[in-house]
Amino acid sequence: MKELSKIALNIQPSATLAVDSLFKQMKEEGHDVVGFGAGEPDFNTPDNINEAAYEAIKNGHTRYTNTSGVPELRSAVANRLKSDCGIDYKTNQIVVASGAKHNIYVALRALVNIGDEIIVPAPYWVTYTESIRMVGGIPVIVSASEADNFKITKSQLEEAITEKTKLFIINNPSNPTGMLYSEDELRELVDVCIKHDLYIIADEIYYNLVYDNKKFTSVAELGKDVKERTILINGVSKTYAMTGWRIGYSASSAKLAEIMGNYLSHSTSAPSTISQYAAIEALNGSQESITTMRTEFERRRNYIVERINAIDGLSCRKPDGAFYVMINIEKQIGRTLGDRLINNSDDFSLAFLENGLVATVSCTSFGCENFVRLTYASSMETIKEGIDRLERFVMK
Ligand code: PMP
Ligand code: GLU
Repeated sequence: MKELSKIALNIQPSATLAVDSLFKQMKEEGHDVVGFGAGEPDFNTPDNINEAAYEAIKNGHTRYTNTSGVPELRSAVANRLKSDCGIDYKTNQIVVASGAKHNIYVALRALVNIGDEIIVPAPYWVTYTESIRMVGGIPVIVSASEADNFKITKSQLEEAITEKTKLFIINNPSNPTGMLYSEDELRELVDVCIKHDLYIIADEIYYNLVYDNKKFTSVAELGKDVKERTILINGVSKTYAMTGWRIGYSASSAKLAEIMGNYLSHSTSAPSTISQYAAIEALNGSQESITTMRTEFERRRNYIVERINAIDGLSCRKPDGAFYVMINIEKQIGRTLGDRLINNSDDFSLAFLENGLVATVSCTSFGCENFVRLTYASSMETIKEGIDRLERFVMK
């Protein structure tokens, strides 16, 4: 038989979703396993949002909609960006898709030609590099060290640019590091993008989850010339505990929005109509649940960071946002934990699952060595139990 697609053969499965599947499978098999793997809020979707979905069904909102989303949802997105970030978008600049992950893919489709280079700061969310490869682009990784708070500098960005560079992806606050670029830091990076005529994909899906009263700045706030080359990515999954509803959105130039819409019209069409109506309520309704969740995430972050740093041979930085923490496991290299010699973070993560019964994600999938990622989007009891196990595991 003829060869399969070279591009498809080159794609790695999502490490975060793979850990999540393994965790769920182990649980089903009756193992007493603790999940620190996929970042998914443990809260239920707020009631007002669920009610809006029931109403949508009762009112017959069960048919196809405009490919880029119903006008009410697109304008709810525009209004939210205006009230949260002070940025003006018209409805025709908003594209709703089946999760922010899909918006990223469609944005890349609209921008990237085969062989274009796309700069991705590491540690990065695992899906960026693979979706770049899926559209025939070449990810160019710029690594930020822990000592630099996992943030890249303008000179690092500038050095990575070649004549093939098309676009820069920034995730702020970041999954997996939790770090937040300040307005000044962002400005330095976007100035480089303007100078070299690069597009920017700014994935700001965690912007509501910023702690210590730190100020979040959207890339699109930084001026007209930045805004017109930027595709903002966001969605309801994290902020409203709606991971399973599959609603994401982007804000960009009207031209790019139109091209993305064309692409969607031949791939998924619009996302579930019922989910779209739920998302309208999420964005237009009371925002109180966000404060409740953010306060709780911050409490969990404080707890988890303190506990990790109290364990001999492990350490972590205090994240500014999102719900992830990166544990530095460098001091564990060369030890035998469980039955495994620990040569790298993959070994650590595997040994911890096999012997500590805790699922984590090794940061090799995020483009960095000697770290594992934990999520604190799970209950305080789960976090306590998981960290107790971590302590026992490395004390052995
Ligand atoms: N961007 C980042 C940084 C994420 O962590 C996630 C997590 N799933 C997404 C985008 C995609 O979210 P979703 O597809 O659920 O909207
Ligand atoms: N984004 C979350 C994570 O990184 C959910 C899983 C995924 O879609 O990658 O864990």
